[in-house]
Amino acid sequence: MLVCGCGRWMHTEGLDECLEGGDGKAWLVRSECRACRLLVGLEATPDEALALVDRLTWSDDARHVLERMPPYVAPLVRAEVEAYARVKGQRAVTMLLLGQARQGGAVAWASEAEQRLDNVPAPVRAMARMELERTAIERGEAEVTVALMEEVKARYFGMGAQKRDE
Ligand SMILES: [Zn+2]
Repeated sequence: MLVCGCGRWMHTEGLDECLEGGDGKAWLVRSECRACRLLVGLEATPDEALALVDRLTWSDDARHVLERMPPYVAPLVRAEVEAYARVKGQRAVTMLLLGQARQGGAVAWASEAEQRLDNVPAPVRAMARMELERTAIERGEAEVTVALMEEVKARYFGMGAQKRDE
């Protein structure tokens, strides 16, 4: 929590998860003192930034998506997403959380990727599925694609395989 120079708590006013020119590894938390109206911005890693968020806050990008929705849909989506955030214990509604909430919390699979997963030997399939979904979430991608599978496969299972072929 932040304390203003005037001695009062500062409250989260906004969150920018996609700083201009940034790589998504730093967020900007905007906090405001409601007594003297002092406004400060803190740039921090997502983990550190989350610690400064004192109430359920939509990131600028997520709010922008909500604002572009038709007026009769937006309040429903807002309620649905905020309920999801509470269930998940999240205070920041990011683009990733918005996507997860709208999909019921699961990462989607491109049908081609799903087919490929069926070819993975059963003993490692569950682990591969988990690893792929985790990687997609980390990157803010809403879907596991064949391209992502190829990349993860190369990283975990195929390392050196290509080199041996040379
Ligand atoms: Zn103040």
